[in-house]
Amino acid sequence: MNTTMHKIRPWRDNDDPVGAYPPHARPNLSRSRMRQAVSRPLSILLIDDSPSERALLRARLKQIGHKVTEAPDGIRALSHLEKFRRHSDLILLDICMPGLDGFETATRIRALEKEQAEGWLPIIFLSGKSNPHDIARGIMAGGDDYLTKPVNTTVLKAKIFAMQRIAEMRQQLLDMKRRLEIQAHTDELTRLPNRRHFLAILDSEIARARRHGTPLSIAYLDLDHFKRINDSYGHDTGDAVLRKVSATLDGGMRTEDSIGRLGGEEFCICLPGSNAEQGMEPCERYRSLLESLVIDNGTAQGLKLTASFGLTGFNRISDNRSTLLARADKALYQAKQAGRNRVGVVLPDKPSP
Ligand SMILES: [Mg+2]
Repeated sequence: MNTTMHKIRPWRDNDDPVGAYPPHARPNLSRSRMRQAVSRPLSILLIDDSPSERALLRARLKQIGHKVTEAPDGIRALSHLEKFRRHSDLILLDICMPGLDGFETATRIRALEKEQAEGWLPIIFLSGKSNPHDIARGIMAGGDDYLTKPVNTTVLKAKIFAMQRIAEMRQQLLDMKRRLEIQAHTDELTRLPNRRHFLAILDSEIARARRHGTPLSIAYLDLDHFKRINDSYGHDTGDAVLRKVSATLDGGMRTEDSIGRLGGEEFCICLPGSNAEQGMEPCERYRSLLESLVIDNGTAQGLKLTASFGLTGFNRISDNRSTLLARADKALYQAKQAGRNRVGVVLPDKPSP
């Protein structure tokens, strides 16, 4: 299951689309590199068993401005890629080699990419074999192009250029997709996870608590008398309050906890690893963080506010998301009834372990 889901930070406008990736999924081409013209120098991994062929190609590639790393066979190429995948932009791959031939090497490189969740690395076959069957086999094995030896330098340069152009277009599409995904699960005003994303986080934590028998609690959070703020100071101030509250909670939260904005002035906090009793201390701290906030609204004394919390624990035998949320809502109602600015608790039927 995806335990890293809740670690996705909401999108901010000045975010670098590449920097927004978790380290394991960071694309090979950085944005600054993408901005450069497609004729920028590449790091090319040259895989060929013949020292003289390698020397010839190395000289030509360096002449047209690229950096070259060499591997004399498929096995050594794979072990290089396992360690230094990010240092390569493109592979030139011979077919006739002892041990792993080029077809098998390409198949394994593609498998490695999947295994390491890496992006696509263009592969151009360079071979003395020119029959259509070999060309087709090379493409089926994961190659992107196929050149026959002896390779004309102008053609090689153009093919590398074409691969580079495709790689960069692909990267731009991936960045855009990523950006849209982040925007789709981020609340526009507060930059917190929105309702849909928060419920997905909660579902994933519920599944984890069920599977591993670990405790879980959640707390509804509702700003007290928020309507009065909107009515007295206007919606711009109301929005500023929601942003400030969100930033304060997001910044002051335990790393394992996550918060989402469900709508209006209503938020929900997920506290994995804590049952309802253990959730009291962090919730009390979050409540007190908000109580001590002073929000600048142009007046000398600033604006003060409080929040009520409805905390409950997850019972992995009898609960689902709806029953859990309903009980948190009941706890919130109790906190409001008891005078607000407090943490109300409703324990699950049987205390969660
Ligand atoms: Mg060979």
